[in-house]
Amino acid sequence: MVKGSELGHPRRCVALAREALEAGDEPFGSVLVAADGTVLAEDRNRVAAGDRTRHPEFEPARWSAAHLTPEERAAATVYTSGEHCPMCAAAHAWVGLGRIVYIASSEQLESWLAELGVPAAPVRALSVREVAPGAAVEGPVPELVEEVRDLHRRCHSDRR
Ligand SMILES: [Zn+2]
Repeated sequence: MVKGSELGHPRRCVALAREALEAGDEPFGSVLVAADGTVLAEDRNRVAAGDRTRHPEFEPARWSAAHLTPEERAAATVYTSGEHCPMCAAAHAWVGLGRIVYIASSEQLESWLAELGVPAAPVRALSVREVAPGAAVEGPVPELVEEVRDLHRRCHSDRR
């Protein structure tokens, strides 16, 4: 369970997702946090320019491989507004990052997007637990799910 005192990082993910939406990207944000609570890296979705791999979990994973020891990576937590897609879950596992805390699950996101009439993604929404069986995964974070849902609603209703 994500305790109240730990909600600051998920809240920052929501702020980054909102920033992405306002910049014309998709509303996703992530924060990489060290074992002692220090924020090491953060990113937001940047797909609008045409590179659909610019998810916010991917660059921090690569950054961690370049800047952290294997022990530091294993002890770190990635907070994210939406559960990792298979690409990002694989990057997370390949670089040996530790825990994941997501606000909304891929299953939730998939059902919201279907409701909004968004065409199916070209990548299956496998659960991060299937792709990265060694990662400790927690989510959803019920306190923030509606805020994330609202950002996706705004994203897809603005653009029709
Ligand atoms: Zn991804």
